[in-house]
Amino acid sequence: MINDNAKTILSVRNLHASVEGTEILRGLNFEVKAGEIHAIMGLNGSGKSTFSKVLAGHPDYEVTAGEIIFQGQDLLALEPHERANAGIFLAFQYPLEIPGVSNRDFLRVAYNAHRKARGEEEIDVFDFDDLVEERSEIVKMDVSFLDRSVNEGFSGGEKKRNEILQMALLQPTLSILDETDSGLDIDALKTVSGGVNQLSTADNATVLITHYQRLLNYVVPDYVHVMCGGHIIKTGGKELALELESRGYDWLTAQEAVV
Ligand code: ADP
Ligand code: MG
Repeated sequence: MINDNAKTILSVRNLHASVEGTEILRGLNFEVKAGEIHAIMGLNGSGKSTFSKVLAGHPDYEVTAGEIIFQGQDLLALEPHERANAGIFLAFQYPLEIPGVSNRDFLRVAYNAHRKARGEEEIDVFDFDDLVEERSEIVKMDVSFLDRSVNEGFSGGEKKRNEILQMALLQPTLSILDETDSGLDIDALKTVSGGVNQLSTADNATVLITHYQRLLNYVVPDYVHVMCGGHIIKTGGKELALELESRGYDWLTAQEAVV
């Protein structure tokens, strides 16, 4: 929900970033306030996942110019784990499988790392079990998934639910969901969207990266941005997603080529 007096959570100014010597992000500006839901749309290869990885601090991506301020802090000065502890969460487009590590243990270690960073004690194992089982209900995930290896043998939809379970547990201030809707059937899409809506509050913010307008029928964004060539070329309200669905991207990208 848009509230002009809300606190700024994320402020990205003139961000340039490269991977293996090639500049992918080229002068990206982006601002998110508390309580807002933003969608970033754009063709394949426009730099959406690169942006999410730069926010999370992926070591392959080198920031060459610009700044990222997260809740008043210089995000670029923080290591990836410090960013996570500070309240940034990235749900991956392609979640990793971690054979041999149970989902429950993985989630408990992540949860305790956040508590430790806040100066809190580790949670009691039994209390954690209660908590994680309660949060599993948000994404309608059967508790048997907690005792399997992280994402190993999970279907695409189960992996995406598992990402949202992490979010439900860690309660980040800024969640970036990279194509969390891709590969979901309609029931899974509704479940995942319901989870995202339930977790969205006036104090946090969500960035949905998506190709498709259909997710935005369920999680209604306050702003829709179009990314092209490594920066945002247009920003509008939720109706922009519908316009993109009917008109495609050509009318915007052609304009961009002239600029
Ligand atoms: P999107 O998520 O919008 O589809 P990406 O951010 O994944 O786009 O990719 C943007 C561009 O950056 C693409 O041309 C892609 O090939 C390139 N790219 C991204 N990551 C890497 C990498 N690790 N190595 C080389 N090129 C990369
Ligand atoms: Mg991508």
